[in-house]
Amino acid sequence: MRRPQRGVRGVQGGIPLLMGRGKESKDEDHVFRYRLGDTGRKPVHSDRLAEMVRQQLCNILDIAQPLQGDSEAAADAFRFLGPQRRAYELYNGNGTSKTGGGRSEGEEQSAVDSGDNACLNLANAALYEPRIEFIAEQLASLLSVVELESGGEPVRIDGFRLKDLGDWVGPHAATPADVFNHAATRCQYDCIFCYNRGSVESLEQPPHSPGEEWKELETRVRHYNPRAGRGLFPTFGSPREALAHPHILPLLRSLREKTGEPFRLCSNGGVLDRDFVAALAELAPVYLDLSLNSSSPQRRSMLMADRCPEKAIGAPALLADAGIPFAVTVVAWPYPGLEEMLRDLDETARYADAEQARLVQVNLPGYSRFFAAREPFDTGEVWGETVRLVQRLREELTCPIFVSPSLYEENLTRPRKNQPEVIGVVRDSPAARWGLTAGDMVTAVNGIPVKSRPQARDLLALLQESGTDRAAMTVLREGRSVELAGDTGDWSYPFDPITGTHLGAVFMGAGLRTSYLERLEALVRDSGAREVLFLTSTLVRPTLEQLLRERPLSLPEGTRLRLGVPENRFFGGNIMLGDLLVVQDFIDFVNEHPEGAEARPDLVVIPSSPFHLSGWGRDLTGRTYLDIARETGVAVRLLECHPIWE
Ligand code: SF4
Repeated sequence: MRRPQRGVRGVQGGIPLLMGRGKESKDEDHVFRYRLGDTGRKPVHSDRLAEMVRQQLCNILDIAQPLQGDSEAAADAFRFLGPQRRAYELYNGNGTSKTGGGRSEGEEQSAVDSGDNACLNLANAALYEPRIEFIAEQLASLLSVVELESGGEPVRIDGFRLKDLGDWVGPHAATPADVFNHAATRCQYDCIFCYNRGSVESLEQPPHSPGEEWKELETRVRHYNPRAGRGLFPTFGSPREALAHPHILPLLRSLREKTGEPFRLCSNGGVLDRDFVAALAELAPVYLDLSLNSSSPQRRSMLMADRCPEKAIGAPALLADAGIPFAVTVVAWPYPGLEEMLRDLDETARYADAEQARLVQVNLPGYSRFFAAREPFDTGEVWGETVRLVQRLREELTCPIFVSPSLYEENLTRPRKNQPEVIGVVRDSPAARWGLTAGDMVTAVNGIPVKSRPQARDLLALLQESGTDRAAMTVLREGRSVELAGDTGDWSYPFDPITGTHLGAVFMGAGLRTSYLERLEALVRDSGAREVLFLTSTLVRPTLEQLLRERPLSLPEGTRLRLGVPENRFFGGNIMLGDLLVVQDFIDFVNEHPEGAEARPDLVVIPSSPFHLSGWGRDLTGRTYLDIARETGVAVRLLECHPIWE
């Protein structure tokens, strides 16, 4: 494609719309553009507000460059849309426009010259950087009362781009995954269980042309600074298949030049032929979550619409040959029936074990109301039978196998929760070589007593990271205390301490930390509240109740703490994860909570994990948790915590 002439990009009413610096730059940035939407805000009416409007416009135009279609729009004055049609200068009458008339210090050349001009999803941007939505709302609001002008001619704008991307670089996007997951914009398959079917608008980011996406990815790499722990906008995981992106290998190579951190990649296996695996091996350390779903070509084709299933099914052998550790994941989707799924799960797990998978992860099948209006299967039956099969397989396989969310298995099968019980040990890991086995209960690590699962995991993680040569563990095995000891450096494939954790011991999820209760206690005391409602989830509640029985909170006299479990109404279906609750679910629960016998709370406490997206306290629909207090009239506090399901 012929590159347009740099310098003057377009003309509107005889006015140059963009004057470049006249300097060729190799590092052209992807253009982050957003369409203006109808914000529903009422216009400001009186021209007494002219100065305020001018200041607001100038502030916004310092940060955002208005666009008219594909072109940058200059502006040097504005005029109210009301009967008084006097024009007001924007910049002290010196005739200099900061919009479009050249780039300011720090502002980068953008891909606006390339002809690629698709806009990004504003609702999606609002999740990770609500100030972009704020700019859009402010600009749309201003443009509902004024018209911009340039050289006395009206300038009509319908979008904006971010001017200096350096303004937006921060600590929220500090991992390689925050860059490469943005390549997950497409997928070769069409799985019958794909969570992208009926996805909510705020999570959608429609694919653009590969060239445009590459420019965006290059921009993210350029702004990614692993040493400073900073990057440009975070990601919410891998919505589709990053490895299917035509530019994924150059992207990973550019990232590898910047960081030695491991790349943990999810893949459906569709591109994993010998050459691709060899290219990945050169990028080590790499860890792959291989979404195999079935080791049977017929079933994989049926589930995923994969026309060449043998490639993904052959990938484990190639990965093992290349020394790339991997986990095999299976969605236990009961299609065409439960028995067939269970039979295939059994075979697939054995196949993964034989091919040296580090782990097998069985995802209990989930669906939202956006996915299916009617229940596609009986959740209790399918989840229960899947857990029972996994437990049987655990006794026979060498590699650990677990279900996700593991709290479901724990609630179903363990009367006592949060135990430091080992459910599997990675083959050839230090823990395996010391003799740790599934069913062992960790009671001490290097002589430090262990009471709970989070403690065991923390101590093992610390031990692994500390670089200590020798270590010891005490476990309870069939009623007897057994001492295990060994070298922390004693391991081989498929374990390695860069991509593996806890010296190879695998537990039933992260568990619930007692420190959360201490935080809850302090928070309630500080608030002075008397009727406290703590909102949790179906999956976490049993563990929380056990912890509260074992360690009752010390609260001021007369203070009452109750637990509540809001329904996942927004996502609906069989979704029961607390981290997928949204602001409206919490509002509904508080408003519908029966009054009378139970007094209305004067404080609602909610774990922070449903609002952890990029630190803005927003849920998956982009709403701030502060709306809960605004709409219910009850004070709301977040209890800082990490997601505990995994
Ligand atoms: S491989 Fe993943 S992203 Fe692709 S269709 Fe299947 S579930 Fe969806």
